[in-house]
Amino acid sequence: MKKERIAIPKPRSSFLVVKCPKCENEQVVYSMSNSAVNCKICETQIAENSGGKVNIQGIILRRLD
Ligand SMILES: [Zn+2]
Repeated sequence: MKKERIAIPKPRSSFLVVKCPKCENEQVVYSMSNSAVNCKICETQIAENSGGKVNIQGIILRRLD
């Protein structure tokens, strides 16, 4: 078993509705995704992976809890 210190409180995961800045497609992005997310329509990157959570690069319209 790997021994790790958990310094950060349990991160809140959520689903975000993100609008692509290029083609205005709305897409659901999971905030704890481990990989970058591209727009399904024009393939613009709308979220990049940033150490266990995503950095949203599009426009966050709302959260789905
Ligand atoms: Zn797009």
